[in-house]
Amino acid sequence: MNDPVDIRDLSVKCGNCNTYQTLAGFSRRDDWNVYTYECENEICDPAVTRTHVEVPRELDTFARRDPEWRGGRRHAGAEPEAG
Ligand SMILES: [Zn+2]
Repeated sequence: MNDPVDIRDLSVKCGNCNTYQTLAGFSRRDDWNVYTYECENEICDPAVTRTHVEVPRELDTFARRDPEWRGGRRHAGAEPEAG
């Protein structure tokens, strides 16, 4: 059993504006949970500096603990599964 991963333990910093990006979305790709981080300022165009952090589903404690996480609702059908 591998060590679990909690994306809340991570910080994602933009290499362009040097500020921390915020979690803006969630989706799935095969066996990966994909978290999207974006800059929330007037410096960066999110379409250019957007970051995708991929976590193996098996290890992703954040999606398991927070199946009702609001960020997932933007993407219909891509919400984390309960349990
Ligand atoms: Zn930025």
